[in-house]
Amino acid sequence: MTETATPERRTTPGGSDRPLTEAYDTALLDLDGVVYAGPHAIEHAADSLAVAREAGMRLAYVTNNASRPPRVVAGHLTELGVPAEPSDVINSAQAAARVVAEKVPAGAKVLVVGGLGLEEALAERGLVAVRSLAEEPLAVVQGFDPSVGWAQLAEAAYAVRGGLPWVASNTDLTIPTARGIAPGNGTLVAAVRAAAGVDPVVAGKPLPPMHRETVLRTGAERPLVVGDRLDTDIEGAFNGGVDSLLVFTGVATPAQLLAAPVEHRPTYLAADLRGLLVPHPAVTAEAGGFACGGWVATAEGGELRLAGSGDRWDGLRALCAAAWTALDADGRPVDGHKALAELGF
Ligand SMILES: [Mg+2]
Repeated sequence: MTETATPERRTTPGGSDRPLTEAYDTALLDLDGVVYAGPHAIEHAADSLAVAREAGMRLAYVTNNASRPPRVVAGHLTELGVPAEPSDVINSAQAAARVVAEKVPAGAKVLVVGGLGLEEALAERGLVAVRSLAEEPLAVVQGFDPSVGWAQLAEAAYAVRGGLPWVASNTDLTIPTARGIAPGNGTLVAAVRAAAGVDPVVAGKPLPPMHRETVLRTGAERPLVVGDRLDTDIEGAFNGGVDSLLVFTGVATPAQLLAAPVEHRPTYLAADLRGLLVPHPAVTAEAGGFACGGWVATAEGGELRLAGSGDRWDGLRALCAAAWTALDADGRPVDGHKALAELGF
């Protein structure tokens, strides 16, 4: 993995004449919106991952959610038909604990705002989780847990105002639950920030500590980041100089992708994890537009146009090339409304 690679300025989705399982040695898979949605497996996830593993691809699961320890996540995955070991799961609590360990002496006490995921990650680094300032912690670490309430947030605010270093596992503003969208760690971090007047060091996607943690734990040489969010998964891959596959089983929509700034553009796109198992057609420049499969996309007068027929995902690839090229030329997004409707998006 090249941590120092200069991110390319991508203006079209990439092509691969081999299945991605052959072109890359390790898939770094996001979980929510990619493998599962809350308690349920996402369609085609378990079957596709079984075929990918059979083809020799190493599978690792990389999540910004700090609340559950890797062994709990691995158990959940195994129940869903995706066999996983705790060592296959990397979470933002582990990345945060490593950042904390670099700021305090070995064996130091750390004030935890969060749950079991953070406590176990601190223990793995030889640090001692405490819950009150009275125990004289030397740092504060904050991650999502459904149990976090005002008293814990207040304790963190007093500690941070008092000058202790503060590390947040991630700053996702929302978290998907079985009943809908709920406040995530970023929202709880904002409460502490408002009281303390200080910004935390953030470990999770899309920031470098999470990428570093993943590299250290998987030893991947040709990794492929797989995710459903442009601002965490895909931007994290961009920041790490790593190729990425966007799947449309979670948060991102085709309309968002067409308007994506360069750091939010994936290398590949697919409906779901079956996209790992197949080659990906290249987009080629053609007659003032961009061709992929049976489609040609152009941007004229601030609007995307699409001609041809064929696979709708090839149509979206061609539209991305036209939209991104136009966006880079004058900084204004083009209207892809009608073209996306033609593809049934
Ligand atoms: Mg996700």
